[in-house]
Amino acid sequence: MQLTFLGATGTVTGSKYLLNTGSQRILVDCGLFQGLKQLRLKNWGQLPINPKDVDAVVLTHAHIDHTGYLPLFVKNGFSGKVYCTEATSDLCKILLPDSAHLQEEEAEYANRRGFSKHHPALPLYTKEDAQNALELLVPVKFEQDVQLGDDLTLRFSPNGHILGSAFVRIHNKKTSVLFSGDIGRPNDILMKTPTQIKQADYLLLESTYGNRLHERDDPMIKLAAIINKTVKRKGVVLIPVFAVGRAQELLYYIHLLKSSGAIDFDIPVYLNSPMAVDATAIFSNHRGEHRLTKEQCAALNRTAHMVNSVEESRALNEKKGPMIILSASGMASGGRVVHHLKAFAPKSNNTILFVGFQAAGTRGAAMIDGAESIKIHGQYVPVKATVEFVSNLSAHADYSEIIDWLRGFESAPKKTFIIHGEPVAADAMRVHVEEQLHWRTIVPEYLETVNLD
Ligand SMILES: [Zn+2]
Repeated sequence: MQLTFLGATGTVTGSKYLLNTGSQRILVDCGLFQGLKQLRLKNWGQLPINPKDVDAVVLTHAHIDHTGYLPLFVKNGFSGKVYCTEATSDLCKILLPDSAHLQEEEAEYANRRGFSKHHPALPLYTKEDAQNALELLVPVKFEQDVQLGDDLTLRFSPNGHILGSAFVRIHNKKTSVLFSGDIGRPNDILMKTPTQIKQADYLLLESTYGNRLHERDDPMIKLAAIINKTVKRKGVVLIPVFAVGRAQELLYYIHLLKSSGAIDFDIPVYLNSPMAVDATAIFSNHRGEHRLTKEQCAALNRTAHMVNSVEESRALNEKKGPMIILSASGMASGGRVVHHLKAFAPKSNNTILFVGFQAAGTRGAAMIDGAESIKIHGQYVPVKATVEFVSNLSAHADYSEIIDWLRGFESAPKKTFIIHGEPVAADAMRVHVEEQLHWRTIVPEYLETVNLD
C-alpha cells in the first residue's frame, strides 16, 4: 500500500489522503483548503491525481475542511461511491450545497463590487455540482465492515468530534491504517467519548491542539461572566460558530445557563444560520449518537429564535442589545456572521466570542491576536468590541487528551503520521508522542508519498 498526503499537512484544512494498493485507489476525506490565501489557492490548482482514477472516497466527517472539495472532485470526473456514516450523509446534504452557495455568493459579490482581480470572478463550484456529489453518498452504519473492491475492508467507529464523525479503519490481509479524523474530547457535554481503538499498523493522527491544552475550568462559568458583562453594557454577544457541532453545544450551554439563573432568562438569543438551524434538527434526529435525551434536544431547540430569511438577518444588525447572536462561519471566514461583524465589531459595548479553533489567515485568528481592524469585502472594519476566546468549548481533543487516548493502544503502530495541525502544533504533537509513548512518528510534507507494508 502507498499513502499520499494531498492536504492537511502544515495546516488544519484541505484533508485528503490517497491510499493506493495497486489495484485500488481510495481517497480518505476530500476537504477544502481554508484560511491563508496561499492555501485557498490550492483549491484552484490541479490535483496530482486524476479524479477519474479514484475508485472510492471515504469521509471521516461532514465539516467542509474534510468534505468541501468533493463537488469539484466530482465535477472533474470522479464517479465512484462516497462512503460515510448516516449522520455525515445527512449533514453533507446541508453543508455541501451551502458551501456551493457561499462560493457563488462570493463570486457574485466580487463581481458586483468589482474588487476581484478576476473578471468575471467565478465560483469554485456551483450548487448543481454539490447536488451531483450528494448523489454519490453511500451511508454506512458505525461498526460495520464494508468491502472496498476485492482486497480492502472499511469500518467507521465514533470519534466524538461532531455528529457522525468517525475513526476510519481501512485494512487488507497484511496491513491496517487508521485515519483519526478530528478527535473529540472525552468529556464533551454533547458527544460521547471517542471509541478506544486498540491496534493499527499505521496511524494518521490529527494535531490541531498539538501544542496547547484547553482550560480545565468549567466553560459555563466563563461563558456566564462574558455574557453578563456584555449585558450590563447593553451590548451584543456575537458568537461565530461552526453550524454543525459548536452551534448545538452553545445552544445547550445557553439553555443550561438560563435555566440555572446564571444569566438572565429573558436575553434574546438568535441562531442566524439556516444551515445551523437544519443541523440542529438533524442533531435531534440522531439521538443515541450523542448524550442528549429527547427532552434535552427539545430544550436546545427552544433556546434560540431561529433566523432563516436574509431580511430577518439584516434586521438583526439594526437591533439594539442586549442579545446573543450565534452565526456561521466559526472562523468568520464567510457566511452571515461577516455581516454581523461589520455591524457590531466597531462598537465597544459589544463582545465577539470565539469558541472554536481559528486557523491562521482567518479573521477569527486575526481578532484573537488583537487586530485593530479586519478586512471585510475589500474594506477595513475597526474592531472596538471586546474579543474573547473560550478554548474549553473546543470540539477537538488537546494533546494530553489525545495522548491519553493513544495510551489505550495495545501495541504501537509501525508509524504514526502527524497531520492536521499548523507546523508548530504538528511538531509539538510529534514530540509528545515520541517522548511520552516512544512511538515512531513522521510529520509528512504536502504531496509526500510513503510505503505502508
Ligand atoms: Zn471537524
